[in-house]
This record gives sequence, C-alpha cells and structure tokens, in this order.
Amino acid sequence: MSTNQFLPLVEKIKTEGKCLEGGILKVDSFINHQIDPIMLQLMCEEFARRFSNVHVDKIMTIEASGIAPAVVLGYLLKKPVVFAKKKKPSTMANMLTTEVYSFTKQKSYTVCCSKEFIKEGEDILFIDDFLANGNAAKGMIELVEKAGAKIVGMGFLVEKAFQNGGQMLEKLGHRVESLAVIESLDNCTITFKE
Ligand code: 5GP
Repeated sequence: MSTNQFLPLVEKIKTEGKCLEGGILKVDSFINHQIDPIMLQLMCEEFARRFSNVHVDKIMTIEASGIAPAVVLGYLLKKPVVFAKKKKPSTMANMLTTEVYSFTKQKSYTVCCSKEFIKEGEDILFIDDFLANGNAAKGMIELVEKAGAKIVGMGFLVEKAFQNGGQMLEKLGHRVESLAVIESLDNCTITFKE
C-alpha cells in the first residue's frame, strides 16, 4: 500500500474536511458536492504520474463521485472513461451486474455496466473518491472479471486505512494508489498515516 501522501490534498483536507459520526470524512466543499477543478486537476496529474508505468486501455469508476476524477484522468491519459451505474437502465443490453454493499448508506445495491464498454482483454484502471472497506472496489473487480478484462491499478483520492479495504485489495494482488491516507478519525480528529 502506498502511504505516499499527496500534500496538496492533505492540506486541503486539513482545512476543509469535517469528521462525521461513524468514521465518515465529509469533503463536500471540494469533492463530493462542490468540486474544486484546480485540486481535481492536481490530483489527477498525480494519478497520471503514479500510474505512468502501467498500460491502460480504459478508466472505470462508479457513479457518482468517482466520475469527476475519472474524467479528468481520462482527459490527461487520452483514454475513454466508463462509469458503472447504480440503477439498471431499461435500455441496457448485454448487462454485467454485481452487488455492492454501501458503507455510507448501510445497504446493498446492484451495480451494472454494459458489456459493450468493457471488452475481453482490456486493461482497466479503476478510480474512485474513497476507499473504506473496499466493497465498491471488490464489486468493480467482479464486473471487470466477468467481462474478461483486467484491473491494472486502483486509484483513490482518499483511503481510510482503519477500514482495511487497501489491505484486502493488496492481498488480492492489486496495485493500490491512494493520494491521502487517513489513519484515524477517532474523536473527530483527522490523523494522517505517517
Ligand atoms: P467502500 O466500498 O470502500 O467501503 O466505500 C467506498 C465508497 O463509500 C466510496 O465510493 C464513497 O462513495 C463512500 N465512502 C466511504 N467512506 C466515505 C467517507 O468517509 N466519506 C465519503 N464522503 N464517502 C465515503
């Protein structure tokens, strides 16, 4: 696991991040509601640098908050971006589906993606806003495997190391790059991993 902290993001979280009950970090002022495009560009340039030695055919994410960083990274790498949908569109043919348990909403939902947009043999870079227990990431690995494609890397803006998703993904053999790694949110204090 990379504990290589991306300092501009760490500073932004220190000034604007808020802790909520239950180990949730609220970053609504620049990631999850209002979006700071300058910070987004900086973060995606850092992803591009960290994954520069990896062959990527396509970037994948899950709606909604992963879409902005995935698109900016896709723009930088000049690669297409596909987002898995949380609601099954009635018009979608050849659908791949998987179940994902949501930590923030405390319920399971079905994630789907058309086979048209993940093809056998493709190298997929997965991007998302947060890594907590890794359920969303696990669901995406399943979707990509069902399509016969391969995950070549997983990038997260923020990883909450106390929830062990990173360890789980690395045990499965995945390369994980998290730009800011949080050690603890105990007592509503944001502590970054050393
Ligand atoms: P996981 O599936 O890894 O348990 O959780 C990842 C997903 O849950 C992310 O896509 C994100 O939407 C949401 N999430 C988990 N923890 C947090 C958090 O502390 N803050 C925010 N804003 N979203 C979170």
